[in-house]
Amino acid sequence: MRRTILALSTAIGMATLSATVHAQQPATAENGYSIFAGTIADMTHTEYADAIKRGAVALWGLGVIEAHGPHLPLGTDVYGPYLNTRLAREALERRDIPALVVPVFYWGVNRVTSAFPGSIDVRPEIMIEVMVDVFRSLKRDGIGAVFCVSGHGDAAHNRAIFEGVKRGAAAAGMRVYFVTNRMMAERIGLPLDDRHLVLTADPPPPATPPATRPQPDVHAGAGETSSMLGNFPAVVRADAIAALPPTNLTPEQLATWRRGGEHALQVTPHGYLGAPADANAERGRTDATRSAGALADAIAKTVANPR
Ligand SMILES: [Zn+2]
Repeated sequence: MRRTILALSTAIGMATLSATVHAQQPATAENGYSIFAGTIADMTHTEYADAIKRGAVALWGLGVIEAHGPHLPLGTDVYGPYLNTRLAREALERRDIPALVVPVFYWGVNRVTSAFPGSIDVRPEIMIEVMVDVFRSLKRDGIGAVFCVSGHGDAAHNRAIFEGVKRGAAAAGMRVYFVTNRMMAERIGLPLDDRHLVLTADPPPPATPPATRPQPDVHAGAGETSSMLGNFPAVVRADAIAALPPTNLTPEQLATWRRGGEHALQVTPHGYLGAPADANAERGRTDATRSAGALADAIAKTVANPR
């Protein structure tokens, strides 16, 4: 039998054989990463139900597929919230707060970079409807609270998350929160006293001031490039980074970029905004730990004092 399979494989050609073998391999750093690892998608339904019986809350990241310069993958804003929720879950478990990670939602709203290839733009109302149905399903399964985080800075995307959280909480009759930082909440005009909004503490200033002068670094720049280099290096085009000059945008140019579409294409034709060449992997790992720690702190506080 084995001999027959080998003979057949040879007959249909090595290309087909290697494709089959590749499909059967688990995702590793060599051929990509699994964003299901550590989430409910890799659990059985019985393991999932057992965690809910222990009182697990759910963490859910919401990102997008979006152009991130010539050096970062389109899924950069998916890897980010995946890591954030996964590390936060581990931090919560260490405090005896059981938690489950829902796989990252990646069909978000891309108004700013919609003119770039690979930026998939879903209408906010569609995203909100999907969110409501996910909350309903989690409520049916017995989950009492869901904490949502964003992986993407687009104002329209973050407003859609907040709207989906409020609508979902009402429709499902459960506690649903949008956990974000004060800077984002103020920038997009969210009501800071809303019971569905949880603000993370402002991060402490870095121990050593950055070597380069501050400049807008909001998209595929030093911050995001560090994060990807530090945590998902196999999908970074590391060779391309050194040749990318800083964009050094003025506040006016940044405002023009935020108008999106052709404006963003004109201001940042290469699809990044900031200084990718200033990135380093160590900063990426430190930032990820700090961010997940702030998320876990905010969730733990809300679990202790539900509103
Ligand atoms: Zn991004």
